[in-house]
Amino acid sequence: MQSQIKPITPGHHLSLHQVVKDLVADGRLAKDAADQFLIPARSSKLDIHPLVMLAQQEWPDQQHPGNTLNLEALTQWLAKKAGLPYFRIDPLKVDVTAVTAVTSHAYASRYKILPVKVEANRVVIATAEPYAREWEGELAHITGLQIERVITNPVDLARFLDEFYSVSHSIRRATSGKEDQAIPGISNFEQLVELGKSGRLDANDQDIVQIVDWLLQYAFDQRASDIHMEPRREKGNIRFRIDGVLQHVYDMPAPVMTAVTSRIKVLGRMDVVEKRRPQDGRIKTKMHTGDEIELRLSTMPTAFGEKLVLRIFNPEVLVKDFAALGFGEKDIAGWNQMVTQPHGIILVTGPTGSGKTTTLYSTLKQLAKPEVNVCTVEDPIEMVVSNFNQMQVQHNIGVDFAAGIRTLLRQDPDIIMVGEIRDRETAEMAIQAALTGHLVLSTLHTNDSASAIPRLREIGIPAYLINATLLGVMAQRLTRTLCPHCKQPGEVDADVWAALTSPWKLSGEARFYQPVGCDECRNTGYLGRSGLYEMLKMTPTLREKIQPDSDAVAIRKAGINEGMTQLRIAGAKKIAMGLTTVEEVLKVVPPDSEI
Ligand SMILES: [Zn+2]
Repeated sequence: MQSQIKPITPGHHLSLHQVVKDLVADGRLAKDAADQFLIPARSSKLDIHPLVMLAQQEWPDQQHPGNTLNLEALTQWLAKKAGLPYFRIDPLKVDVTAVTAVTSHAYASRYKILPVKVEANRVVIATAEPYAREWEGELAHITGLQIERVITNPVDLARFLDEFYSVSHSIRRATSGKEDQAIPGISNFEQLVELGKSGRLDANDQDIVQIVDWLLQYAFDQRASDIHMEPRREKGNIRFRIDGVLQHVYDMPAPVMTAVTSRIKVLGRMDVVEKRRPQDGRIKTKMHTGDEIELRLSTMPTAFGEKLVLRIFNPEVLVKDFAALGFGEKDIAGWNQMVTQPHGIILVTGPTGSGKTTTLYSTLKQLAKPEVNVCTVEDPIEMVVSNFNQMQVQHNIGVDFAAGIRTLLRQDPDIIMVGEIRDRETAEMAIQAALTGHLVLSTLHTNDSASAIPRLREIGIPAYLINATLLGVMAQRLTRTLCPHCKQPGEVDADVWAALTSPWKLSGEARFYQPVGCDECRNTGYLGRSGLYEMLKMTPTLREKIQPDSDAVAIRKAGINEGMTQLRIAGAKKIAMGLTTVEEVLKVVPPDSEI
């Protein structure tokens, strides 16, 4: 039974005492804990919301054993009690320009309310004070909109209230050049162009600086891997790539986007004036946590102006232990056995964005001991590691991969990492390095591991040289993993499952799960990604199969007989463990990897 909070006055704030009493009455909080808490005659301080104070106690939730009454649980309880919808603010889903136009920062701060959604005739307002309603009639009157209240946690409310208004304020000031002027609409385009011409939108303008800081911080918070700044006809479009999927984040007036792009180009030491030729640059920045982040920039001229993509390299994300990369125990053992050989070639294959670089860096980091010289030749250097010797390919001065390996070989190396093998010269140099007693790691673009061998022959490497040097090939993919906060047990169509796993029958019981969607995963049902691996380890039997005329199918068959797990089977195992779904695995594994 839910007890009712009786309003003391029309429009009162939550009182700490009343909230504690109600939690006890609702069976959520133990009475003795409440009594102990209330004895020292506590009163809710004006500046601390009662729920925040209570969440700090970390009380066990009497109704949900094992859970604590954290801020989110308390907020949900309050929403239910007040008969209002619970709402968690997702900054990526809020149209900041629209919501901040509903009321002023001062008004919103005074009543601790935040508009979160605006429609033609209604506005959704988030609050953490369900019984303080003095603003409601007034705001309805001023805006002419129907007010719909939702309950959100007070910490998020305070944070986003400041963030939304400060960023929209910066954008507005950057656009208008004047403080507190209404946002110029898109209909005002000519005026905006005028402002741009007069040079008021400067890349060094404090507001632009602030927008850029906000944008980067936001991208880090959201675990984005790329930021896209896309000019459109009338506005600028900002999107983040999160777990491999692009998500729309923000629209900006076109001139503001231009200034923001210029500011980022300044930071990346690029030519700000040049807008017609593609350019590259990089930025190193420190996050508030102290982690160093590197951003790789790339511009491209488009019909509506200069498009900018920022790729985020977070060393912590780039180097992980093998379990975190999704390696199974068998994968780890097989991989370690290959990479601890004194000499030979190991190839990692897969399309762009399949996590090859992360695997290579994580491996090299593990191998880089003081007594070992680890050298790399890369295009580009994705991450600078202090105990590697890294060289950047520079085509303009004739330093390509092949020339790079040649140089490295004169540098007394033990382990060489070559960014990519895509031509005969590079392949030959890599073979030579392996033959002269070095361990060579590189990548190749093929669909699966077995195809790497015919690919090397196509490039022009004779079978006997492949046989003499190749230690193994690992194909890999990244697949999105189910959000652990909301996934639910589910079923998989028996025919689909049989087709995916044929001709095998996976041992053990499968526990299938399906995506649901919650606040933690922004309602996508997926959170993070994990690797699928197919390891082709050279064995005497396999070496016999590497003949001038052998094709990928024959090698694949032999590999499976020697214990190789195909990508789709690796995917099926993750599905059976309840980590991902058939849909996600089918998206990334090779289409017809028949035996
Ligand atoms: Zn979720």
